[in-house]
Amino acid sequence: MDNKLHHRVVVVGGGAAGLAIAARLRHAGLEDVAIIEPSEQHYYQPFWTFVGGGVVDRKDSVRPMAELIPRGAVWIKDAAESFDPANNSLSTRGGKTISYEYLVVCPGLQIDWDKIPGLPEALGKNGVCSIYHYDQAPITWENIKNFKGGNAVFTFPPPPIKCAGAPQKIMYLAEDYFRKHGVRNKTRVVYYCATPTIFSAPKYAAALMEQVVKPRGIDVLFKHQLTEIRAGTKEAVFKNTETSESVVQPYDLIHVVPPMSAPDFIKRSPLANAAGWVDVDKETLQHVHYPNVFSLGDASSLPTSKTAAAIRAQAPILAANLLSAMRGGQGPLKYDGYTSCPLITGYGKLILAEFDYDLKPKETFPFDQGKERYSMYLLKRYVIPVIYWDGLLKGHKWPQPGHA
Ligand SMILES: Cc1cc2nc3c(=O)[nH]c(=O)nc-3n(C[C@H](O)[C@H](O)[C@H](O)COP(=O)(O)OP(=O)(O)OC[C@H]3O[C@@H](n4cnc5c(N)ncnc54)[C@H](O)[C@@H]3O)c2cc1C
Repeated sequence: MDNKLHHRVVVVGGGAAGLAIAARLRHAGLEDVAIIEPSEQHYYQPFWTFVGGGVVDRKDSVRPMAELIPRGAVWIKDAAESFDPANNSLSTRGGKTISYEYLVVCPGLQIDWDKIPGLPEALGKNGVCSIYHYDQAPITWENIKNFKGGNAVFTFPPPPIKCAGAPQKIMYLAEDYFRKHGVRNKTRVVYYCATPTIFSAPKYAAALMEQVVKPRGIDVLFKHQLTEIRAGTKEAVFKNTETSESVVQPYDLIHVVPPMSAPDFIKRSPLANAAGWVDVDKETLQHVHYPNVFSLGDASSLPTSKTAAAIRAQAPILAANLLSAMRGGQGPLKYDGYTSCPLITGYGKLILAEFDYDLKPKETFPFDQGKERYSMYLLKRYVIPVIYWDGLLKGHKWPQPGHA
């Protein structure tokens, strides 16, 4: 087999970002688009919050990759391993050297489970759970469903993480479930949050504190970062990031969101910025040193909340700017940092946050989205998945702007 390949456009990663871009480029008539993607499955990760809350089955979050690769695109079932952008080429784990005219880098981010001592061994057992993994999300639901009272602890690590709302969404679902099933009055629900506020965009932070956290008696400890799980004694250790003091918190249930970072192979590549992310211009999505390289999604340096909804806004801009670069032009479109977070606040309730780089609301609907609404819950549960599978991943333009 020939281990030297060439394609006009090579896309690294067939996640939300990679499939959306490849589909758009194929719609634009580009003939030679290849996607490097090692996984046989594609996951609709936003459903994992609902899996953890017992609303959907995890099987609803997965589809075979083969069905999603856009028609006419080449699927290279391998993993990118190193980049040589000065020579327009990359190497794969399987030993291939692939050259390109244009490169789109979007392999998502990496979850650093092993950065929390005690967590890898404890995960999935004796009350330790996380919705940030396909196998763990149903275990989270088992823990919530079978909870008999005590300390229910939820954590939020230092950002950036993907879907910064998910760590509190699962807490609100759990709290609601405990309330409806008679265990809330024997339960302390506590949120250990590494940041100084509950949400980055001030409008929605205020809404969450006033409409959800305070009235429902949820304890929040800001600037506290999980540092260890002691499974033997069912204790979690947190560091107060202001005073450096340690807090030992006994738990009966703990939902852990571990730290996340750029994938190691990106961190050590010439494409990375100092923090490890693919270093792109925040408006054009073009690499700051290599003009034929672009990035979007979780692996990119774009300083916005890492969501599939953000990718819905990024993908048309990247595709237009890449096509323009092919014609020798400058990117005509600029990304304003649009992202969205459907903040589930209970079974049947949701605050739909939408905002830009300046954390200013950029709302779709003609009403105040800072209020909990049943209609927005229905949108998240039934409409947004269709937009994801049949709109975003297929490169369709409808509807604008994006939710996912
Ligand atoms: C629990 C949870 C809840 C969420 N909730 C929401 C929500 O409500 N709304 C929302 O908009 N977003 C939400 N998200 C975030 C959303 O899923 C991500 O932001 C989105 O999937 C990022 O897309 P991506 O293409 O950058 O990465 P991914 O979709 O993660 O895809 C990355 C792809 O790259 C592949 N890959 C990895 N390494 C390599 C390599 N070396 N070479 C080639 N390919 C590689 C992977 O196999 C994968 O297919 C949630 C995420 C989680 C985990």
